[in-house]
Amino acid sequence: MADKIFRVNMTDMTTAVEEVPVDWLGLGGRGLTSAIVAAEVPATCHPLGKDNKLVFAPGLLSGTRAANSGRLSAGAKSPLTGTIKESNAGGTASQIMARMGIKALIIEGLPEKDAFYSLRVTTDGVAISEETALVGKGNFAVVESLGRDVGVLSIGQAGENRMAAANISVMDPDGKLRSLGRGGLGAVMGAKRIKYIVLDPAGAPKTVSLVDEEKFKAAAKVFAKALHDHPVCGDALPNYGTNILINIVNEVGGLPTKNFRSGQFDAHDLISGEKMRELIDARGGKPRHGCHPGCVIQCSQVFVDKDGNYVTSGFEYESIWAMGANCCIDDLDIMAEADHVMDDIGVDTIETAVTIGVAMEAGLLPFGDGPGFLRLLGEIEAATPMGRILGAGAAITGRTYGVTRVPVVKGQAIPAYDPRTVKGIGITYCTSTMGADHTAGYTVATNILKSGGFVDPLQKEGQVELSRNLQIATAAVDSTGLCVFVAFAVLDNEAALPAVVEMINARFGISLTIDDVMELGKTILKTERAFNQAAGFTKEDDRLPEFFAEPVQPHNATWDFTGEEIDAFWNF
Ligand code: SF4
Repeated sequence: MADKIFRVNMTDMTTAVEEVPVDWLGLGGRGLTSAIVAAEVPATCHPLGKDNKLVFAPGLLSGTRAANSGRLSAGAKSPLTGTIKESNAGGTASQIMARMGIKALIIEGLPEKDAFYSLRVTTDGVAISEETALVGKGNFAVVESLGRDVGVLSIGQAGENRMAAANISVMDPDGKLRSLGRGGLGAVMGAKRIKYIVLDPAGAPKTVSLVDEEKFKAAAKVFAKALHDHPVCGDALPNYGTNILINIVNEVGGLPTKNFRSGQFDAHDLISGEKMRELIDARGGKPRHGCHPGCVIQCSQVFVDKDGNYVTSGFEYESIWAMGANCCIDDLDIMAEADHVMDDIGVDTIETAVTIGVAMEAGLLPFGDGPGFLRLLGEIEAATPMGRILGAGAAITGRTYGVTRVPVVKGQAIPAYDPRTVKGIGITYCTSTMGADHTAGYTVATNILKSGGFVDPLQKEGQVELSRNLQIATAAVDSTGLCVFVAFAVLDNEAALPAVVEMINARFGISLTIDDVMELGKTILKTERAFNQAAGFTKEDDRLPEFFAEPVQPHNATWDFTGEEIDAFWNF
């Protein structure tokens, strides 16, 4: 069965199943969502208007037995940044879509009627129904009502209210949530008045077909072994989750603290991965957990309260940093509760917690006020006037309250690594086509964790090249459905990348080389940049806010790249 494009038009309420255009046949994940958005969305359109399109695409390896290949990409023009956007997440949806033969699901138009809808996607096509029962409810109520045999994509109250920090939730194998977090794609889904999408795989095969099964099996084995054998993929992440990074990044002085005033947080021990593991073990939580079937790293976990009751899962370093060091909150239980609330109402945890850091800067509440943090989440859930401002993200909140210390690039909150101390990631924040995004080119791997060599994080030399190489490779990896954490093994084990290429070749019966895959990464970046330029972005937008010229302790480091040095990133 050849893959198809499933298309939904919310203006005239029609649906279609289409052949895949030749140009898109070799694409998946981010490569496909960005190609579709670039081809079909006018770059200057309003992100919440009728001309924007919301695209979901499984990766090239999704639906196979390749380890860690279940990431789903979503793309659109972002209401947060105004740029092209791709966000990816685990959960079960990507593998289900791939098994159903869905190359991409494209949702276009806006309904005329003031109502919400749901989509039910089967192998035959899409049915649109009006939805009332779950409107106004959080994401947990949605996934709990729809059962585990299907894939679910949904929005919470923030998406319904078209807030620019709204995310799209993806149901995970336990009936909990993962998030297509960054860039406000939940607001695009809310503008199209779709509360949830059900992906019903009834009748679909258990895995996708492979042209050369033996070749695929052999390469998949090599790849899985490379993940198992790597100290980060096979030990640190499974045992402590991504939150292992709190103590490591604090030690090197790159943990942004009190809205990026310092690079070290006095209470780092209280919010660390080690402390989290201790609490999970003592309370009977689950220290290891995969966000989708087939993940062999399992960096996720289930965090429970003092009585052993579920609070949250996928409690990530970036979320804990943003609430913890950045807002000076030192209580993991309050942060876990806030993480649950943000998942339920459907907001990006990084954007929202950095926004509340800006609100603290504005004097709306003191730094360190955990109960106050929860109270502001209540304002977002209720969509009060203040809640709508906070739900619009850090840049709007800073502008509303006259704050100059607002850590954003292209309107998106800067994540958990200070760019003055970890300079490679600063280049990624500036040049990413998505606004500030650590995952776009995770130089922390080489700057701090010494994967793929070492480039001194405090020196300028080598950072532009490092970020460029990683952004090109990441754009390609984001097209495969593989989790970004496979990058550690890919950087350090010379068998890993050829195995990935071999799996793609065996899946489709083609003969890509590693160079072809890198070319794909370059093409994706250039396509995305061209969209942004057509939308009005210039190289002057590839800059950090001016307060990063201030030195940050403990290294007295400043952001000291010239515009010309940053712009050299695009010399490829
Ligand atoms: S390593 Fe973590 S983020 Fe990656 S697929 Fe596994 S659980 Fe998900």
